[in-house]
Amino acid sequence: MQYDVIVIGSGPGGYVAAIRCAQLGLKTACIEKYGTFGGTCLNVGCIPSKALLDSSEHYHNAAHTFKTHGISLDNLQVDFGQMIKRKNEVVAQTTGGIAFLFKKNKIDAYQGIGSFKDKNTIIVKKEDGSEETLTTKNVIIATGSKPSSLPFIQLDKKRVITSTEALELTEVPKHLILIGGGVIGLELGSVYARLGAKVSVVEFMDSIIPTMDKQLGKELQKTLQKIGMEFYLGHKVTGAKAEGDEVTVTFDTPKGEHKELKGDYCLVAVGRVAYTDSLGLENIGLQVEDRGKKIAVDEHLETSVKGVYAIGDVVRGAMLAHKAEDEGTFVAEHIAGQKPHINYNLIPGVVYTWPEVASVGYTEEQLKEKGVKYKAGSFPFKASGRARASMDTDGFVKVLADSTTDEVLGIHMIGPRAADMIAEGVVAMEYRASAEDISRMSHAHPTYTEAIREAALAATDNRAIHI
Ligand code: FAD
Ligand code: NAD
Repeated sequence: MQYDVIVIGSGPGGYVAAIRCAQLGLKTACIEKYGTFGGTCLNVGCIPSKALLDSSEHYHNAAHTFKTHGISLDNLQVDFGQMIKRKNEVVAQTTGGIAFLFKKNKIDAYQGIGSFKDKNTIIVKKEDGSEETLTTKNVIIATGSKPSSLPFIQLDKKRVITSTEALELTEVPKHLILIGGGVIGLELGSVYARLGAKVSVVEFMDSIIPTMDKQLGKELQKTLQKIGMEFYLGHKVTGAKAEGDEVTVTFDTPKGEHKELKGDYCLVAVGRVAYTDSLGLENIGLQVEDRGKKIAVDEHLETSVKGVYAIGDVVRGAMLAHKAEDEGTFVAEHIAGQKPHINYNLIPGVVYTWPEVASVGYTEEQLKEKGVKYKAGSFPFKASGRARASMDTDGFVKVLADSTTDEVLGIHMIGPRAADMIAEGVVAMEYRASAEDISRMSHAHPTYTEAIREAALAATDNRAIHI
């Protein structure tokens, strides 16, 4: 078969690229090595983790806040098997949706491992051992990433596990030890803490979610402590070993003491690495960067080999589904001769704990480092009528604006529905709004979004109304 574009990998980068290519009239194929489409995000990432986050949050509320709302329940129990089953159903519906979209857009889907014979010839190796040869003008590599570990830790995937196994457990852990206080650790840690597990987080840096605005990490830690999570910050893990049903995690404290924790599961969540195995990159002489971990690309996401592009987790930048999607659209439009654009500074970051954490633009730390003069306005959710009504008063919104021009430079929030509310910040910043612009726009009452307006008012001239 001769194609205009072959996409290798069907995650949010790959499937979006394939659909956009097809929309633009390019004859397109997508190769996926797994039995279902959707990649990490749909199968073992965003979607299943959010399904379990939602289920566990319902349980937590039923156990802890329903009574205050005037709802009594007897004999409340967790049916963990049902939670996992529902999560699997959500995943099946979502991955099935991609198969439907491929058909609808007349994209040829191939199940098998894709590899380069040369830059215009791709071999698909199928599960039954047979091979098919496809030729193409362009290739988009969208092979994503896999969990990384520490060199001295053996992942047995039963007791010392990655996020993939943490989404498939058959029991709620008694004591889950997390290595890494980043996004995966805190999202999956809060799932199990809400279901009754003791959860200990061992983090190397001096705050959790260390790459986000520092104030967010501090506030999130306080609220996660309320659901019983404990934190060992500035602690360096030196080992994790399973013996029978027990796991021992050893670490050095900031004072240099050697300590250990014992639990029944250890989730290693110290980041992810690009996945390029079996692509046959050597056959096209492709360069990799970041100590060989990522595929090097230029500003058009084209690799050092003309006509071969790479997107998503396999290239530099945030490892986020929407970043991969944006890059998928970008490359498709570039191949079709358009002039697309991505503003990488305005890709929002979200942590789906409760309260949720969301950010866009520069953090205070980054602005200080760049020497930019800025003003900050904050508004706490405890001053929001909407938040009081729903009993979600933890957290705040912070708006950072240029001291001279009032242009919004960053919005950081922790609070109810922050994941959805950050969209207002993205739109405002994409149109280069000032803090005053946001504060002059009508925000429905009572909504959580009023906190954004109040924070913008606070940044404008310390003019917040409700504090
Ligand atoms: P992937 O989704 O990893 O897809 C790559 C695909 O390529 C895979 O299906 C793989 O099988 C296939 N492949 C690899 N090699 C070959 C080959 N040679 N031939 C054929 N196929 C191949 N991001 C968010 O934005 N929001 C979230 O809430 C979120 N939650 C997450 C939760 C967890 C637990 C995890 C692990 C990740 C989460 N992420 C989240 C990150 C997100 O999943 C990734 O950033 C995103 O999936 C990257 O998309 P991608 O298309 O680059 O690669
Ligand atoms: P991460 O980079 O978010 O966090 C890893 C954490 O581990 C960091 O805080 C780091 O300081 C810590 N760490 C590293 N080495 C350590 C050590 N030796 N001892 C103790 N701590 C150590 O990585 P992650 O949580 O594994 O997530 C991987 C990727 O998946 C991220 O890039 C993230 O963007 C993506 N993801 C996104 C979402 C979301 O958007 N909501 C959810 C899950 C995953």
